[in-house]
Parts: sequence; C-alpha cells; structure tokens
Amino acid sequence: MESAMDPYLARSYLDWLVELGADEAIGDNPVDRYGLAEKAKPAAPVAAVTVPAPVQAEEVDPVAVARAAAAGAEDLGALKAALGAFEHCELKRGARNLVFADGVAGAKVMIIGEAPGRDEDREGRPFVGRAGQLLDRMLAAIDLSRESSVYITNVLPWRPPQNRDPKPDEIAMMQPFLERHVQLADPDVLVIMGNISCQAALGKRGITRLRGNWAEAFGKPALPMFHPAYLLRQPAMKREAWADLLELKARLLA
Ligand code: URA
Repeated sequence: MESAMDPYLARSYLDWLVELGADEAIGDNPVDRYGLAEKAKPAAPVAAVTVPAPVQAEEVDPVAVARAAAAGAEDLGALKAALGAFEHCELKRGARNLVFADGVAGAKVMIIGEAPGRDEDREGRPFVGRAGQLLDRMLAAIDLSRESSVYITNVLPWRPPQNRDPKPDEIAMMQPFLERHVQLADPDVLVIMGNISCQAALGKRGITRLRGNWAEAFGKPALPMFHPAYLLRQPAMKREAWADLLELKARLLA
C-alpha cells in the first residue's frame, strides 16, 4: 500500500502501538473509533409528553342559555335569529325549517299553537296544513284573519320527528323564547291551543277543563281552546270551540 507518511515516522508510530500492546492487525481499513462513539451516544432525551387530564365537557343548562338568548333579543327579527342560533334542541337537527311566526306582528290577538307538522316544516310557516286551514275558517267566523288581525306562533319552532309530542325538556327550553315572543309581539290577548301550549304558557295541562276559561299567561289574558287538529279528529267538539270563539270575540269588542 502506497503511503505518503515518512517511513521512519510510520515505524515510530508502530513501535509506540506495540508498546501499548496492539500487536496484531485486525482489519485492512482504518476505523474511526471516535466517530463510532459519537454515533453510539444515546439520543438526547425526548421531552416528557404530558398527557392532559381528560377535559370534562362543560355542563350546559339549555334553559339558562335560552333565557339569556331570548332576553338579549330586542325585536322579533332578533328573536328569530336567536332561535336560529340556539343549538341545544335536538329537534333542530331533524327539521327542514325554523317555523317562527305568521300573520300581523303587533296584532291584538296572538295564537300559540304546539309545533309544526310536515307542511309547516316544509314551508317554514305555522298552521298551513289541514289544521291550519280549519284555524283560518274558525278565525274568519269571528271576522279575524292572519292577513289582517292575528299573529300566530307555536311553542316549538321545529317539527318533532313523526309529529310526536314534544318532550318536557324541549318545552322547557323553548319557553323563554315563547315568553319573549309574547313580550315583543305585545298582543292584547293570547289564544292557547291544545295541551302542549297550556303546558308552556300556563304550566298545566287538562284542556278539556281549561278551555273557555280566561287565565293569565306571560302577563296577558289568555284563553285556552281545543286545538284545530283535535277538532278535525273530534268534530263533535266544534260546538265548544264555537262557544270559545264567541267568548274571544266578545272580549275583543268589550
Ligand atoms: N299544529 C300546530 O300546533 N302548529 C302548527 O303550526 C301546525 C299544526
């Protein structure tokens, strides 16, 4: 092997190695032991990973959220927007549209129905299906209409699946919105149609007993009546409904 090293110097290195005890060649090629030692160094310790404690989902009280959202609404448009932004009612996920209200805002008569059905969900307006058509005829019989003299809403703005009855927690979380709706629409009287509406507005059910008797809801005189959908199923009850309509008309004329 050619070497540029001075043979005398090379010889003195060899002697020195022999002196140290390196008396046998074990490889043809030099090995950089310092480099190997560098490579063999343990990797720098990885910073300890701190596993964060599981985050407890914050408990949300939907009724309190609804109360704050409703209270912050300064007019009906803002209330509709607040309802649209409310994410704590499961019914919203299955509904096509928010059904807020129809008719004349600020009218003397405000009707509170229960919840949208299929037709209302599709159109985004309350009482447009068969029950709504009957309601329109009932109102016309005492010279009222949603075009000129009545404002209409529901306890629930979203259709329950398969038109099932709303659950108590759904009614409870919509109640603050309903109360604010009445404040902002500011009618002279409320007409409360059916048991769900009585539950939300009066805190009790029993429409057969309650109907036709003036009560107070959200600070307004309120007349419970049979729901038009019930009258479609039980036409014989239209007699009582007619008496209640006459009672409403008398109150408006008084
Ligand atoms: N029944 C209701 O209570 N409300 C509607 O909007 C339709 C049917």
